[in-house]
Amino acid sequence: MKKTVKDINVAGKKVLVRCDFNVPMKDGMITDDRRITSALPTIEYLSAEGAAVILMSHMGRPKGEPKPEYSLKPVADRLTELLGREVIFAASPQVVDENVKKMADDLEGGQIMLLENVRYRAEETKNEEPFTGELASLGEIFVNDAFGTAHRAHCSTAGLAKYMPSVSGFLIEKEVKFLGDALEAPERPFVAIMGGAKVGDKIPVIENLLKKVDTLIIGGGMSYTFFKAMGYEIGTSILDEESIGLAGDLMKKAEAAGVELLIPVDTVCAKEFDNNSEKAVFDRDKIPADMMGMDIGPDTIKLYCDVISRAKTIVWNGPAGVFEMPSFAEGTKAIAGALAESDAVTVIGGGDSAAAVEQFGFADKMTHISTGGGASLEFLEGKELPGISCLEDK
Ligand code: AMP
Repeated sequence: MKKTVKDINVAGKKVLVRCDFNVPMKDGMITDDRRITSALPTIEYLSAEGAAVILMSHMGRPKGEPKPEYSLKPVADRLTELLGREVIFAASPQVVDENVKKMADDLEGGQIMLLENVRYRAEETKNEEPFTGELASLGEIFVNDAFGTAHRAHCSTAGLAKYMPSVSGFLIEKEVKFLGDALEAPERPFVAIMGGAKVGDKIPVIENLLKKVDTLIIGGGMSYTFFKAMGYEIGTSILDEESIGLAGDLMKKAEAAGVELLIPVDTVCAKEFDNNSEKAVFDRDKIPADMMGMDIGPDTIKLYCDVISRAKTIVWNGPAGVFEMPSFAEGTKAIAGALAESDAVTVIGGGDSAAAVEQFGFADKMTHISTGGGASLEFLEGKELPGISCLEDK
């Protein structure tokens, strides 16, 4: 267990807080502020306890240069609105300079300030000096609350922990609790649902989950690599040629471990990767040569929803089909609906499954929706996350 902000005295201290404010933007406007609202409990707590709060985050990929389109100014404005009081924005192309140091010095207990995008500095993603030392010069305590970047060792994540006492914020605490409890102490049956397109990324996750779950459900674009491993023709469906052998190995490992591995029995196919393309349902061994699988079929939906309805713990990562196209969203929607109806502990890995749950209006029915796509995948893979392992133990 890692120490949290509650385990230390922060009153009157300058506290550096790494958040994940990497929010989607369009035409200078924030289109989804979930990541900002998720960070509020830690910020409000620290400020109420009398800490001078210095917030840090990245946004997008400015690649080590100051680029105005990636400025965190809109985040400072949104934070000001949400908190109902001023969040001072330390605008500086170098992120830390003499003026920013002065602003940090002058910051009083209870006040909140946000630094500019840490990825304006090339050292950030390499975890190199002098940037880490410059950031460290601003504060006395480091709080990491950026779960979305916890799988990266950067200056503002793992780097700062070398300089000062370091603890987790409430968001990281919550993420670790829900993801960790699901993996280590699940109420059974424990069902994991894996979907999405990139099989290569997910194979190590499936491998780790096979040691923990009772049933593993496969959906989405990766199904076709499994079909291929089973010896079926898949038409023009998405295929990860290099992972066919690994998919076959996973099927054998599941059998040896006594884990039920469910692979779709039928699939909705289309001629083109297009919402308006003609579509039809085929059994998994009858995909026509000129069509591609776009979603799980109705028999698969029935089978999967039945298993989900009996589960007591469910972890879901990756959509069951091309859910961005309404024509091929049925499978993903049905799974999201089944999770919403279930009384199991439901944990949604970040990224596309989180987006799907939101899009279909089921977000408030889930036990926990992770704020980190890559980070939650690495967590489920059983990897140590450097942004968390660097924090002090209780
Ligand atoms: P990932 O990033 O690996 O989680 O993949 C998510 C993406 O997989 C989403 O954008 C889906 O549209 C896509 N996807 C799901 N099913 C399929 C499919 N049958 N064919 C192609 N792409 C798919």
